Amino acid sequence: MADTIAAISTAPAKSAIGIIRISGDASLKVCERVFSGKVAEKPREMVCGSMMSADGTVCDFGMGVYFKAPASFTGEDSVELYCHGSRAVLRTVLDAVYRAGARPAEAGEFTRRAFLNGKMDLTQAEAVIDLIDSETELAAKNAAEQMNGALGRDISALSAELTSIAAEFYAFVDYPDDEIEQSERDVISDKLDSLSFRAASIAGSYDKGRIIRDGVRVALIGRPNVGKSSLLNALLGTERSIVTELEGTTRDTVEESLRVNSLALHLIDTAGLRIADTEPERLGIQRSEAAARDADIVIAVFDGSSPLDKFDMQALEFAKSTRSICVINKKDLGCIIDTSVFDGLPVVEISAKNNTGTDVLLDKICEIFEVSEIPCDGRTVTNPRHASTLRRAEERIRYAADAFRNGTYPDLAVSDIEEAINILGEITGNSAQDSIITEIFSRFCVGK
Ligand code: GDP
Repeated sequence: MADTIAAISTAPAKSAIGIIRISGDASLKVCERVFSGKVAEKPREMVCGSMMSADGTVCDFGMGVYFKAPASFTGEDSVELYCHGSRAVLRTVLDAVYRAGARPAEAGEFTRRAFLNGKMDLTQAEAVIDLIDSETELAAKNAAEQMNGALGRDISALSAELTSIAAEFYAFVDYPDDEIEQSERDVISDKLDSLSFRAASIAGSYDKGRIIRDGVRVALIGRPNVGKSSLLNALLGTERSIVTELEGTTRDTVEESLRVNSLALHLIDTAGLRIADTEPERLGIQRSEAAARDADIVIAVFDGSSPLDKFDMQALEFAKSTRSICVINKKDLGCIIDTSVFDGLPVVEISAKNNTGTDVLLDKICEIFEVSEIPCDGRTVTNPRHASTLRRAEERIRYAADAFRNGTYPDLAVSDIEEAINILGEITGNSAQDSIITEIFSRFCVGK
């Protein structure tokens, strides 16, 4: 018996339509109490009717649809009610739904039920969040393909091949170790090598996949007054960062996002590198340094119209230690810097004030993080959990291959293979612990 849950599945804002989702054994009964349309007569078809509040008065006219178990998202009897998207109407209908016997759904509970009822594996359920959170078309495309099972199928195929190799091992288990020919050992170990290589290459796709899903963190560093905030504003076309002639006005980090081609850029304007006079300033600078260290790329900004000082040199040293682009700003005032100090680092000259050269800077960033060539067919790993779990599995497969090749008893090597299969099951959900599952679904919104 599945108790019946309900929630508003659309965003909490005034809109043309708002959808209430109901799932569980009593869905139809609950629906009959709040909606006059005869949804039970025509499963999977939209039916018109009026929505009733808890006191039985009509509060809206809309549509309803019934999905009979197991042919529904959750695999349970479900109903969706399409109301007008007034928050008052939705609250009223939802209240009536609760009074008719449903209880409020927890975050992600609909998708969790879909997973528990075998409608999808864990990779597909996680792709649902990624799809909702996607900021670029590529991220959405990859998430949609994962929701369709692309990654889950690759992981399951890997697991199936390991299972069949484990079966070959079982055949050896009764042999004394010295009776297994080295050539037989090599054949099986080679197969394992190729599977560990496959696991590593799926995990390796995360380097680009992370950029597709999360975008690029770009930290702007440099001493005060070189034009970091002006550059941020020029890139965004807004006045988000405070620009003034006084030094040290950007006290803390300011973060804004923009999309360029298929890339989401998260720009972080940091407090300028300088000697801090006050505690809050010191904290601001520390936070800025941390942001610069965590960034995928650092844009070190210099004022081309004035000589480099020790804080500029500090920014330059930092730029040399990481992936970076040097920006010489205030091109409109001429450049007096000897550019040989940049020592082979990519350099772009701009005027943030006149917004010239910023397009070249964006092109350079896009070139470094080229993602348009990536096949967003759902087989690119975008989720850190999947990547780290795959690496654990890959390690186990490698242990098994090396151990068997070097003469370990088959039953010892087989335990590594079994462990690898188990680890892969954490990705698809076949062997994931409850705590992992709970953690994953807690990141969903209510109504999904
Ligand atoms: P930050 O402290 O590095 O964030 O620097 P700001 O963006 O606050 O800029 C400091 C000063 O430099 C302001 O007066 C800006 O108007 C000026 N500035 C910034 N970019 C340019 C530029 O490209 N050309 C000129 N002439 N002035 C600029």
